Amino acid sequence: MLSKKMNKVNIKKIAVLTTGGDCPGLNAAVRAVVRSGIYYKLEVLGVVRGYEGLIDNNFIEMKSHSVSNILQRGGTVLKTARSDRFMKPEGRQKAFENISAAGVDALVVLGGDGSFRGMDVFTSEHKVRSVGIPKTIDNDIYGTDFAIGYDTAVNTVVQAIDKIRDTADSHDRLFFVEVMGRDAGMIALFGGIGSGAEAILIPETNTRIERIVEILERGWSRKKTSMIVIVAEGDDAGGAYEIARSVKQRFKQFDTRVSILGHVQRGGSPSCADRVLASRLGVSAVEALLEGRNNVMLGLIDNKLSYTSYKDVASRKKEFPSELMRIAEILSL
Ligand code: ATP
Repeated sequence: MLSKKMNKVNIKKIAVLTTGGDCPGLNAAVRAVVRSGIYYKLEVLGVVRGYEGLIDNNFIEMKSHSVSNILQRGGTVLKTARSDRFMKPEGRQKAFENISAAGVDALVVLGGDGSFRGMDVFTSEHKVRSVGIPKTIDNDIYGTDFAIGYDTAVNTVVQAIDKIRDTADSHDRLFFVEVMGRDAGMIALFGGIGSGAEAILIPETNTRIERIVEILERGWSRKKTSMIVIVAEGDDAGGAYEIARSVKQRFKQFDTRVSILGHVQRGGSPSCADRVLASRLGVSAVEALLEGRNNVMLGLIDNKLSYTSYKDVASRKKEFPSELMRIAEILSL
């Protein structure tokens, strides 16, 4: 535990922002940053709409009561945004001027890999102190085992597929369920194992229609009364509709349906795991700043705090747990 007096770089005022795509657990993290900032006698500002708010000088004062009763709420009370203006040097210059004018000594940035790529550029041009906290439902950020939002999203997927399984089973249907993941198959992988899907199609592996047909025929010969194929939206063979069409031509035994889960995966009350992760990273982010850490993203690796430079977060690829694909395949027999 950091002593209340320990403030190696003399930080007095911090600002917290949420940027990029939204996800459940952001409010829990904002609350943790605000409350721990106050605990360490700092002034805390919130930035409305991420990097857009920095450019528009949209800062609000955050007190302990500003974050009352938000821990359990999805979305973000600070709002989030993507910012084309921050991609340009003039936008970043304006952001820097506003940060300096507001007397902000350091930022806590809740973002995904795109946001940290932005911070890498920003901090190479301007003297800005910051730490990042990883959030994304895709869980594809290098430097942490889990990002805020992923656990809730994957639980939403499992609950939805359990419901789809009930109706699929009653009508002897084959369902193709599309989940989020343009470049990453982590939602499909965990969601597929957690719901007992017959096949999991993800961008990280090559999808062969013949192989899916083989798996489905095997299930049919075992007298399965329903089957679920989970498809990450960025799968190389196309989206769920396209894959369902190709499979249907070769495998006619089942009545086939497609369900696209869409934005429900981004919303909802955060799971306990996400609330705890967000709380832990939020407090640790403030402590990291006070200890003098700078321009790094905090993460948890093997349940221990880790610090990764923005450059590494932006340029390195998180290892995909391919071992779990093998497990999924064994269990779908
Ligand atoms: P998520 O994965 O949840 O979508 P993200 O942080 O990856 O979150 P992005 O839309 O990729 O979301 O990035 C958020 C913002 O970061 C962008 O809108 C842009 O303002 C900024 N950003 C991204 N890349 C750069 C860059 N190369 N230079 C400057 N800013 C950038």
